Amino acid sequence: MAYATINPFTNEQIRIYPNSTDAEVDTALDQAHAAFLSWRGTSFAQRAQVMQKAADILRRDIEKYAEILTREMGKLISEARAETELSAAIFEYYAKNAESLLQPQDLPVASRDEGRAKIVFQPLGILLAVEPWNFPYYQVARIIAPQLSAGNTVVLKHASNVPQSAAAMDQLMIEAGLPKGGFRNLYPTHDQVARIVADHRVRGVALTGSEGAGAKIAAAAGSALKKSTMELGGSDAFIVLEDADLEKTIKWAVFGRHWNAGQVCVSAKRLIVVDQVYDRFVQGYRDGVAKLKMGDPMDPATTLAPLSSQGAVDNLKKQVEGAIAGGAKAEEIPLPMPNTGAFFRPVILSDIAEDNPARREEFFGPVTLLFRAKNEEDAINIANDSPYGLGGSVFTKDEARGEAVAAKIETGMVYVNHPTMVKADLPFGGVLRSGYGRELIGLGIKEFVNAKLIDVV
Ligand code: NAP
Repeated sequence: MAYATINPFTNEQIRIYPNSTDAEVDTALDQAHAAFLSWRGTSFAQRAQVMQKAADILRRDIEKYAEILTREMGKLISEARAETELSAAIFEYYAKNAESLLQPQDLPVASRDEGRAKIVFQPLGILLAVEPWNFPYYQVARIIAPQLSAGNTVVLKHASNVPQSAAAMDQLMIEAGLPKGGFRNLYPTHDQVARIVADHRVRGVALTGSEGAGAKIAAAAGSALKKSTMELGGSDAFIVLEDADLEKTIKWAVFGRHWNAGQVCVSAKRLIVVDQVYDRFVQGYRDGVAKLKMGDPMDPATTLAPLSSQGAVDNLKKQVEGAIAGGAKAEEIPLPMPNTGAFFRPVILSDIAEDNPARREEFFGPVTLLFRAKNEEDAINIANDSPYGLGGSVFTKDEARGEAVAAKIETGMVYVNHPTMVKADLPFGGVLRSGYGRELIGLGIKEFVNAKLIDVV
């Protein structure tokens, strides 16, 4: 397994990065442990300075950082800038809030009339972060900003197709003033990752990625009795009720399914539309998708980016063929497509029968699964007929009705009148096969701390 940058727009291989040697892995762990022993003793104000500096650098050099993303994994340059800004906002959020989020909590002890009990939140040690390529900075910021702020140190194993983005994050934290070893990117093999998980100084593992990788790393962490958080795949429902503002809803559906070329764990992958407005919605949706423009992701006029690699295109094609073999109807939207690059024309799948395996699969690209629901109850049943439980959304002009439907959807996040989104000050995570644990805000920072009771009797 080699780490390499291949530009998905040109299919040109830019650079190969050799795997880390065993000695490099050992040195990184030694340094991360040494760094932990002093970093855990720093004040929140000292850590906040580093987090704020990281945010400031990302904002100052936003063009440089954004271009790396676009050239390495193909996302639109506007989306790459937005991701860089979102990552800066996450660093800034913890610069401002880590101290209050980890304030000791006094406990009222009703059973006795003297003494004091409190919970303090202490860092655990080295954490391993295993991250995917679809948001190469945001995924890393989501774990290192809270965990470095809590006093932990972090070793990163990023996806093999984004080594430059991983190196950029490594450099960022050095420039921000984090002590040597506090955060370290490696290019390990999967075997070396298993060794890192097992190392006694590593106290937890956070993975974002597929179910397959999640199951393996969670099992390795479990057998070493270490805590893990798993942010895995999703197939978000996007429910359209008969009283939705159709024009706005259609715009959000086109965006929700196609931003980041459809390669988002919380893309609106399943559009579930009630019978009364189904035909009008589908016509508007098809027209909206037909207006997308494929092309150079560096060109501001482009609105549909290439996928991250030719391999991703080939896999998605096979999945669509499988859905058709299972009886689904497929409509390809005939957008003009560049001759080179990892492009994939949008496909709308409908008539996806109960027994078609595609109904419960995650399609990681511009493929829409369309469902006609009899009514609200039927829409909720279809939404919940999924092995995943990440995000979801419901569109209606009646907010109270939207909230009531949201309460019945079995996922970690539901939005009313907006596709699932990502923000620095909202939590992120799922249930079922979408994983466990939460990232961001206070929930995220407390995933890898020792909530220690100190009781003075
Ligand atoms: P993936 O293959 O699971 O890769 C994710 C990371 O895991 C990569 O760094 C990968 O490294 C590593 N990995 C895979 N198998 C491993 C093993 N046996 N040992 C050690 N490391 C291993 O994920 P993907 O298919 O590229 O990414 C897309 C998936 O991530 C989708 O399912 C998507 O929904 C999910 N995702 C979830 C969230 C969320 O927050 N819930 C966010 C974004 C994406 P290599 O590249 O070296 O294999």
